[in-house]
Amino acid sequence: MRFYICKEKAEPKPFRIAVIGAGPAGLTAAGYLACRGYDVHVYEKMPEGGGMVAFAIPEVRIPIKAVREGVKDLERIGVQFHFRTKVIYDSPRELGDEWAEHFVSLERLLGEFDALLIATGAWKPRKLKVPGAELSGVYDALNLLHHIKMARIGYYPWERIPDLKGKHVVVIGAGYTAVDVAIEARLLGAEEITMAYRRSLEQSYAKAEIKKLISEGVKFIEMASPVKILGEGRVQGVEFARTRIDEGSVVTTDKRFVIDADVVAYAIGQLPTSPIREVVCANEKILKEAGIFFAGDVVAPRNIGTAMREGRARGKEIEEWLLSKAPRKVFPVPVTARLIGSVVNGKC
Ligand SMILES: Cc1cc2nc3c(=O)[nH]c(=O)nc-3n(C[C@H](O)[C@H](O)[C@H](O)COP(=O)(O)OP(=O)(O)OC[C@H]3O[C@@H](n4cnc5c(N)ncnc54)[C@H](O)[C@@H]3O)c2cc1C
Repeated sequence: MRFYICKEKAEPKPFRIAVIGAGPAGLTAAGYLACRGYDVHVYEKMPEGGGMVAFAIPEVRIPIKAVREGVKDLERIGVQFHFRTKVIYDSPRELGDEWAEHFVSLERLLGEFDALLIATGAWKPRKLKVPGAELSGVYDALNLLHHIKMARIGYYPWERIPDLKGKHVVVIGAGYTAVDVAIEARLLGAEEITMAYRRSLEQSYAKAEIKKLISEGVKFIEMASPVKILGEGRVQGVEFARTRIDEGSVVTTDKRFVIDADVVAYAIGQLPTSPIREVVCANEKILKEAGIFFAGDVVAPRNIGTAMREGRARGKEIEEWLLSKAPRKVFPVPVTARLIGSVVNGKC
């Protein structure tokens, strides 16, 4: 997997850039900037690079070997990686944090680097908020996929992975994560897999992949939204409400039906996880003046292609910014830290 192809490395330039997050967005930006001659350091909390591609997308779809080759390309052009290193500002605990052994503050990076790119993705699954969601056997699909992938690439023992053999797995959702959990469930021996989606198949983000799964025996129920997970202690079924679309919005109707289930995996979206919590509220213009840029899923969860395109575009922007603001920062570090503080406190 090529994150950036550097045809000819430029002469060294006197600027240092920190990239936080080694997913497709951060890696592409790092490749672009290293190729242009900048001193690029990538901080990544996981033990290696690749982001969701390495640590959630099933091995049968994108093998870790391909991701590792892409990361090696970047090392060859001088990108310096700091793995198992989490960058913190006001970050709460997130998926994958157990791998971090070192913690570096955002303020320290602001002091040591000329510009920062935050490309930390969207690692927080949206929680299913219906009665019974806490029952044993109900999983958020991102966590489940992350753990399965960690086992497949040798980081976790298989005993940590739920046994899906012979089970009826009900998948709620119809995006990439839902598709992947259905694929893994089948590989792990599930007897029956049913996907349920609150809109129609044609409206689903991953309809091509879902059509393929249907042709391979996966059941797909459209226009259905879960209202209750049934069971005592452990999941036994899911109660759904029929839905209809009203001016583009999903409306649940009074029609109900129940599907038996041994395992439920919900994939109903992910939320951005930035070391600066409120990216949404962040006044991008102010942060850009301070040399802080954002790219990829941390802006809004989308896909690999968009993350890579944004990584490259932000790399170019950082370069333009550095050249126009040379030789050094617009704001001293404590001022920048205060700026971030006001952004985080909602004063933006
Ligand atoms: C299960 C699944 C299947 C998918 N399938 C597809 C698909 O088929 N096609 C497609 O185009 N897209 C797919 N996507 C979406 C795609 O993976 C993402 O859009 C893409 O990976 C986003 O890239 P990114 O670099 O923005 O973030 P990520 O890939 O999430 O990388 C962010 C990185 O930042 C690191 N990080 C986070 N916080 C910190 C911190 N504070 N300090 C240090 N490091 C940190 C994380 O460990 C991670 O490595 C899928 C996503 C999932 C979850």
